[in-house]
Amino acid sequence: FDEIDAALQYANDDWEKVRGLLGGKGANLGEMTRINIPVPPGFTITTEACIAYLDSSGTFPDRMWEQVQDGLADLEKRLYKKFGDPENPLLISCRSGGKFSMPGMMDTVLNIGLNDQTLARLIAMSRNPRFAYDSFRRLIQMFGNVVMGIDDALFEDIISNKRLQAGVKHDTELDADHWKAVCEKFKTVFSRQSRHPFPEDPMEQLKRSIEAVFKSWNGKRAIDYRNAANIPHNLGTAVTIQAMVFGNIGNDCATGVALTRNGTTGENVIEGDYLVNAQGEDVVAGIRQTQNLKDMSRDMPETYHEFERIAKNLEDHYREMQDVEFTIEKGKLWMLQTRDGKRTAQAAVRIAVEMTMEGMISKKKAVMRVTPEQVDFFLHPQFDPTSLKKAEQDGNKLASGLNVSPGAAVGQVAFDADIAQAWATKENKKVIMVRPETKPDDVHGMLASEGILTSRGGRTSHAALVARQFGKPAVVGVSDILIDMSNRSMTVNDLEIKEGDWISVDGTSGDIYLGKLSTIVPDIKDPWLIKLLSWADQFRHLGVWANADYPGDAKRALDYGAEGIGLCRSEHMFFETERLPHFRKMIMTDFPLERRESLEALLPFQREDFAGLFRVMDGKSVVIRLIDPPLHEFLPDHIQLLKNLSDLKLQIRDAATLKHLDDLLEEIRAKETLLKRVEILRESNPMLGLRGVRLGIVIPELTSMQVRAIFEAACMVIREGGYVKPKIMIPLTSHVNELKQQRQVLEDEAEKVMHEHDIRVDYSFGTMIELPRAALTADQIAEHASFVSFGTNDLTQTTFGISRDDAETGFLVQYMESGILPENPFETIDREGVGRLLQIAMEKGRSVRPDLECGICGEHGGDPQSIHLCHDLKLTYVSCSPFRVPIARLAAAHAAI
Ligand code: PEP
Ligand code: MG
Repeated sequence: FDEIDAALQYANDDWEKVRGLLGGKGANLGEMTRINIPVPPGFTITTEACIAYLDSSGTFPDRMWEQVQDGLADLEKRLYKKFGDPENPLLISCRSGGKFSMPGMMDTVLNIGLNDQTLARLIAMSRNPRFAYDSFRRLIQMFGNVVMGIDDALFEDIISNKRLQAGVKHDTELDADHWKAVCEKFKTVFSRQSRHPFPEDPMEQLKRSIEAVFKSWNGKRAIDYRNAANIPHNLGTAVTIQAMVFGNIGNDCATGVALTRNGTTGENVIEGDYLVNAQGEDVVAGIRQTQNLKDMSRDMPETYHEFERIAKNLEDHYREMQDVEFTIEKGKLWMLQTRDGKRTAQAAVRIAVEMTMEGMISKKKAVMRVTPEQVDFFLHPQFDPTSLKKAEQDGNKLASGLNVSPGAAVGQVAFDADIAQAWATKENKKVIMVRPETKPDDVHGMLASEGILTSRGGRTSHAALVARQFGKPAVVGVSDILIDMSNRSMTVNDLEIKEGDWISVDGTSGDIYLGKLSTIVPDIKDPWLIKLLSWADQFRHLGVWANADYPGDAKRALDYGAEGIGLCRSEHMFFETERLPHFRKMIMTDFPLERRESLEALLPFQREDFAGLFRVMDGKSVVIRLIDPPLHEFLPDHIQLLKNLSDLKLQIRDAATLKHLDDLLEEIRAKETLLKRVEILRESNPMLGLRGVRLGIVIPELTSMQVRAIFEAACMVIREGGYVKPKIMIPLTSHVNELKQQRQVLEDEAEKVMHEHDIRVDYSFGTMIELPRAALTADQIAEHASFVSFGTNDLTQTTFGISRDDAETGFLVQYMESGILPENPFETIDREGVGRLLQIAMEKGRSVRPDLECGICGEHGGDPQSIHLCHDLKLTYVSCSPFRVPIARLAAAHAAI
């Protein structure tokens, strides 16, 4: 496998260059020709030419046009036809195609070379005037729309009127005379709208089509798509000029698209749609109801088998699932395109695993083929089964369609992309975009929506492809829905749904519901994912631990593959209602006795919490961080207290009885004492105040209580026959002396408890590094700590001097939009600043203690890019929320491969 990978890698590097130059489509057409797959002959103008054209504001680079003419001459020679020749005309297509697939986002013009003269010849040669006129009207329409920018609706209206006039439902029922009349009308629209007659000169048609395709690289929908898919804007599109083959000459002709494996589930079966007697864009546009490819094996068995053989061949050749386009012209099969197929996250995982098992790719390659975002998708919400059942019982199931992109989405109906985008981004609404079908122009709305619903289209329709790529739940082809755009409503079986009403869309089952259903996050039981993650585990060097405070979280983390708990935030345990008053009292009092009583009340709670964690983790590391509450989170509100007090004072005048007055005075005295205490404890910068280790130093009994709880819990679980591995972590250390002092308190208490229980607990002692000073003095710290864990939330806050609590909704947004900061530093570790501190700390720490265990437990521990950095810096493990554990396992493998 390594040899296969090495060969593929070598080929890949060259292949990358070829794709960069010829675009994916051009490169693949060339490659298909090279391996003897029937492809209509053609040539490709490079992306470099496109960039040169766009940079020079609209002039072809030197000699490009001459080279196009040479290419044409070569085509003419090979096909014994001539471009523009009234006797034996060659017709060509002019097709866009960048390095990365951007389905439908750029333009294409077909049937170039047709004019009144060549049309007459096409009629004579094909003996099919209907086909010839249909082809001509397509050229006028595409040229008009793509090159001259004429609104496509003007052309479509003419066709609709023609259908009405002829009393037919479908375009296929229009005959030659109808299309002939349509051509005339199209020409009129063309000249009226563009103030030029339709160009009869084929060379002019070609030249202007190439220019339009070049320009389509910078069209709005292409730019939106690139922004969303992270495709650079400076790559340009290639232009492929190719001889036309026709799927619309008669009933022995067809055109279709297929995926070599199921793009939704990944199952190893070819799936696709095709149309008899039609041209390519009819299938993708979802205008006509397509037929399932299975029907082709019945209706055109021989051609189908050839197609199946070629599809398999292509998949073997590229060692990847392929998305192919084909045309059958009078029984002869032509392949028009192949590219790596888009797929759902589920399909990506299954295909990668099955291809490995089929011997096509290595485990390493399989692991690399799945992205952390795709793994994330497995953890996406699904509808809660009880909510689904209730919706069914209440008759709220509206209809069903094709389940083309899984996941549950709930939102308000928006009938066009602009509204969807505006509601989602400006009004923070959750939106489901509902359209008859989607077009590339709708992409910005699709991206802003929670989910997508269309009344037409198939599995390979635009809506399905785009939704799948961006992980948006989508249901398409729901024919029971009638959308009335003028009323901005839709009806489903007599029920009217207005724009803004709530619906729920189940992309997994294909069902849609009225109202808001509740969602749940599924367990990751997918057998292919489990396998893939087990392969990832073989490659990664980093451990993957989880941040968990409660036994339930710890259990989930273990199920998802966590190898330890890297952070239990022990202060979270005080937030519960029975505990909070004791904790508050403990802070507020300055009477030692009262403080001791509160701590004693808290001890049993903590002991049970820790024992629960130890039991679940069964001997795996459990890092318990001693209390680190910014005190303001626990103090009564100062302003509220002042107000209470003045209210009470006002009541004195109206006190009805002496007893009442005494009670009031008593209450006022208590409130005044409280207020005094709050005023003493109140801090201007609580995040930089009395928290972390400082609190333990000021109130050593607190450290003792927590340590006692940990060790009593450990002894209890050991006595039950369990295994424990507590690691006690001191937060927010800045100076080694803080650590030394706390270590003494901690070890004294630990010894006491172990002595009382006559049990030795194997524990370790460490600290967080979350302040720059700690990072810079990690060598001193490592003398007293057997492990450190980077608290990159606070470390980012204190390195940048940016508040982690409010900056992300404030000025940081502008910082990122304007590019002052490339990324949100609270999401992805800032390599140069915070990352550098990590590096210094690692070097210093391990210089005195080579086996120093180093982890990260800030939110960055679940971010793939940050995980990469942790791998580079040779951390021992990353610790993240249980839901990020599977992602971290894969990301850590990617970093190591
Ligand atoms: C951190 O600062 O990164 C950390 C894990 O601690 P907390 O988020 O609890 O402050
Ligand atoms: Mg912190």
